Amino acid sequence: MGPPGAGKGTQARFIAEHFKIPAISTGDIFRANVSEGTELGIEAKRYMDAGEYVPDEVTNLMVRNRIDDADAVSGFLLDGYPRTLAQVEELDGMIKFTGHRLDAVVCLTVDQDEIVSRLLQRAQVEGRADDTEDVIRRRQQVYLEQTAPLIEVYKARGIVHEIDGLGEVDEVTQRIFTALDVVPES
Ligand code: AMP
Repeated sequence: MGPPGAGKGTQARFIAEHFKIPAISTGDIFRANVSEGTELGIEAKRYMDAGEYVPDEVTNLMVRNRIDDADAVSGFLLDGYPRTLAQVEELDGMIKFTGHRLDAVVCLTVDQDEIVSRLLQRAQVEGRADDTEDVIRRRQQVYLEQTAPLIEVYKARGIVHEIDGLGEVDEVTQRIFTALDVVPES
């Protein structure tokens, strides 16, 4: 977890690689659907371009289908999900059904100004339609309103690791690995 631009996608890939599990990014799945022009993509795009969340029913169903795939049987990392209280509840139900459990929630903390400048840089490199300044600000606001409060829900379960997301990518990865008790490979 962490606000847009905190580096979730980047770090998710390293964690997933280490644990040999898939990194399931709802944002990436939406973007793939948008570029393929699927019905899901057409619906999701309206929300994404405005910096709003895609409705829970749509997102939940998509995650439910994805974690049913064979590569997720022995575990998975979720990047960008859950983002609402309804998604937290839905995820609890899904993993109860599949027999998984939530081992850890990694929260990347970063400074708001730093984030906006990172996202504006990313906009130049990747050309994402939701990386304009107005949309970036809206996404931060939606995160603060709808997603940040969820950290408390997971804190109450004792599974949250808060990680300083500022610094070099590999420094942040090391902080995460230390928090998750990953033994360095020799
Ligand atoms: P991300 O790449 O994770 O920043 O996601 C890009 C956009 O996809 C978000 O701004 C939302 O519009 C949508 N999105 C991704 N994950 C979710 C989610 N869990 N719930 C609702 N919308 C989502």
